[in-house]
Formats: sequence, structure tokens, C-alpha cells
Amino acid sequence: MSARILSGKEFALQIKEEVRRDAGALLEKTGVVPGLTVVLVGEDAASQVYVNNKHKACLELGIRSDIVRLPETASKEELLTVIAGLNQDRAVHGILVQLPLPKALRTVEQEVLLAIDPAKDVDGFHPLNAGRLAVGDEHLVPCTPAGCVKMLEMAGLEIKGKHAVVIGRSNIVGKPMAQLLLARDATVTICHSRTKDLAAMARQADILVAAVGKAHFVTADMVKEGAVVIDVGINRLPNGKLAGDVDFEQVQHVAGAITPVPGGVGLLTIAMLLANTVKAAQLAVR
Ligand code: NAD
Repeated sequence: MSARILSGKEFALQIKEEVRRDAGALLEKTGVVPGLTVVLVGEDAASQVYVNNKHKACLELGIRSDIVRLPETASKEELLTVIAGLNQDRAVHGILVQLPLPKALRTVEQEVLLAIDPAKDVDGFHPLNAGRLAVGDEHLVPCTPAGCVKMLEMAGLEIKGKHAVVIGRSNIVGKPMAQLLLARDATVTICHSRTKDLAAMARQADILVAAVGKAHFVTADMVKEGAVVIDVGINRLPNGKLAGDVDFEQVQHVAGAITPVPGGVGLLTIAMLLANTVKAAQLAVR
């Protein structure tokens, strides 16, 4: 058996076309250009790449994009002052503080996220937006899990009534992913680092989501024949190549559908960020 490969590129293009259309309609109706500002603290190489990709994608789709760069040595107060200014700026509809923050600021990460106006929290990490998701009100939803669910829906893969197993319970991927699947009537199991006999749990999944951060963690013996496998992991191998949390080479022969890494759900994350920015702008001008 060979799995259907779910190409992130194809689905991201579709989402981006919707975003372009919605941004254009908003401009025509209200004269407002949706605006995203990314705050980047320090010189982390991967973060620079992510931020530049977001900037390019915004410009392609008619979204105004700004990057505020702060030095590695920036204090909490400096960062909070920048966020307070962006909260007040009516031309800014989305604010994103690129994570991870430099080591010195990591202990105040939650305080920083709390300072962002929830109406501009296009990452969906503010506790207010996390709470709204938990009560079934999908307002500004974290981009990666939102992209995974959107991809399942666009691919015509049924969620309702399926057993979904999510490996990982982080606030940015695992938990919101589980909530989105639950809201679509899946029966959801969340597994994590303390789960006993994880392989047996994973084998029960009709939809298996891996968000662990360990290369090739999910092996073929952990996957039920025909299951849909969503690989969220992005791991750098010693040879410099990127790998997911799923052993793609082996698992593709067991799964019914599978996302590759690279070229899978990572591409959807940016597309959903742009969609959230336009949504925040639409809500701001209502
Ligand atoms: P995290 O480190 O915050 O969480 C990892 C989770 O995996 C934890 O809940 C932990 O309990 C679980 N885990 C760790 N070891 C385990 C084990 N041995 N068995 C079972 N569970 C285990 O990571 P995260 O931020 O949720 O990200 C997960 C992965 O997804 C990373 O590779 C990250 O790079 C990637 N990611 C990708 C995107 C994207 O755009 N595609 C976005 C965010 C994160």
C-alpha cells in the first residue's frame, strides 16, 4: 500500500488565494489594508528565516508587513513598550512576537504574550484566545493546528467519529490540535512523554498527529493500516537535512494518507497566520 501524500504546498496555495481575495475585498469595502507586525528579538538564525518568509508572504497577498527588530540585550520593559505601542496603532491588526525569545527573556515569555491585545493576537497564544478555543469559540486559533485541520477538511478526509490520537500536549500545537479535532466530533486521545505504551495508543488512531520534536519518532509499527498521519515535527538532522517526527519512508507504506516534512504542514502555518491577520482586520473594522 502507498499512502496519499498530502502536499502542504497545494493546500497552502488554496488558503493564500482565499486570503488574497478577502484582503482585497476588505480594502475595497473599507479602504483598510490588513497589517501584521512581527517583533524579533535577537539574532536567532532560524527565527530570521521564519520572519523573512512571513514578510514575503504578506507582501505577496496585499497585507502590510513590518518587522520590529530588537537587540539580543533588550529588556522586558523595552519589549513591553514596543508591544504597548503596537496595541495602540490602528494600522496594526496582527502582532506576533517571534519565539523563542533570547534566554534572558524566556522566563517572562508568558508575561510578554499576555501583553498583546487579544484582538491582535494572530498567533492565538494569548490565554483569552486559548480559553475561547477551549469553550468551542474558534476566534484566533494557533496557526499550526488550525492549518492541520483545514488541510484535513480541504482534502476531504473525515474527522467526525474518527479516533484521533495526538502525540504532544504543548500549548501551541498538541492541546489546540486536540480541541479542534474534538470540536469536529472526533474521539480524541492526547499522548505525551509520560504516556504508558504509547505505541499501542498510536495504533488505535484513525488520525495520528505527531507533535513531539523527535526525528522519526513514529515508526511503521505504531500506525494502523490506512490511518491519516499528520507530521507536525520539524527536526534538524546531524547532516543538516530536515526531518519530521514520523519515519516517512516506512510509514508511507502503512498509512492511508501522510504529510511529508519538509513540504507538509509547515507551509500551512504561514498561510493560516495570514488568514488570522485578515480576520483580525475584518473584526477591527466591523
Ligand atoms: P514541545 O517541546 O513544546 O512539546 C513536545 C511534546 O511532545 C510535549 O508535550 C511532550 O510531552 C511530548 N513528548 C516529548 N517526548 C515524548 C515521548 N518520548 N513520547 C511521547 N510524547 C513526548 O514542542 P511543540 O512546540 O509542540 O513542537 C513539536 C514539534 O512541532 C517540534 O518539532 C516543532 O519544531 C514542530 N513545530 C512545527 C510547526 C510548524 O509550523 N510545522 C509549528 C510549531 C512546532
